[in-house]
Amino acid sequence: MRVKFWGVRGSIPVPGRQTNRYGGNTSCVEVRTEDGPRIIIDAGTGIRRLGKELMHGEFGRGEGTAHLLISHTHWDHIQGMPFFAPLYQKGNHFYVYARQRDDVHLRAVFQSQTEDPYFPVPFDEVKAEVAFRELIEGARFEIGPIKVACTRLNHPWIAIAYRLDYQHGSVCYATDTAPFRDVLLENEFIREAPRLGAPLAPADAQKLRKMQESLVRLCEGADLVIYDTMFTPEEYRRQPHWGHSCPDDAIEICRAAGAKQLALFHHSPERADDEIDSILAHYRKVTPRLDIMAAAEGVELKVGR
Ligand SMILES: [Zn+2]
Ligand SMILES: [Zn+2]
Repeated sequence: MRVKFWGVRGSIPVPGRQTNRYGGNTSCVEVRTEDGPRIIIDAGTGIRRLGKELMHGEFGRGEGTAHLLISHTHWDHIQGMPFFAPLYQKGNHFYVYARQRDDVHLRAVFQSQTEDPYFPVPFDEVKAEVAFRELIEGARFEIGPIKVACTRLNHPWIAIAYRLDYQHGSVCYATDTAPFRDVLLENEFIREAPRLGAPLAPADAQKLRKMQESLVRLCEGADLVIYDTMFTPEEYRRQPHWGHSCPDDAIEICRAAGAKQLALFHHSPERADDEIDSILAHYRKVTPRLDIMAAAEGVELKVGR
């Protein structure tokens, strides 16, 4: 299984000299296997360049099929979608997976993204066949020879984490999420930061515990865990209700799960390359038994045997 990072940034694309090395595009990860269909996780602005590359092959001829797993539909995870060239090529097939909402169908979510006056081409004009698959909590399914599992995360309006297993390799993608101790984030916008250390309502605490256990199970023994580490501990203390984690939280999950490698991901738009270097160096030093890397645009990893 090969995993390639096309966008590693959180919230908003940040091109420029300070972010050139790790990359300024928002979330997009490609997973390829020898005999399975192509999988793309999230459609942040990183997907634009992936789309251009795909157009040189079968997708340019209208013979491509890809499965898009969407963590959630916040802008930074879907904003590259209208610029994904293979969508405008007749004959291509796409399957888009995301969490089932109570109110709107997934197709309507994507349709509204390009409604007038926000974009010139309405979604119904795309030439490829696009099918939507809404996922319920804890769904498990197969995409060809690849086994997929998912679980929910602690994020405003909920995000989902995915695990892909293929032959003897496994990768988990867990963004966006807050840690599971200070605040339960669901279908509401929390205006003010909760007081850290204050006891939670027992029902909330129990929900968070279950969510965390389920995420640990999802990541169990994984070869690679790609995890939301947007915050430094200090930033987290200021914005615990924004739904993002620090490397410490990712390490805690990876340790509990016995995962082999952690990729720091969803870097803060504020974070310059040099800062990512020093964050990485620090966590490598204090966490010797876990292989830690910082996801960077263009980097491809071989996962499993
Ligand atoms: Zn995000
Ligand atoms: Zn989000």
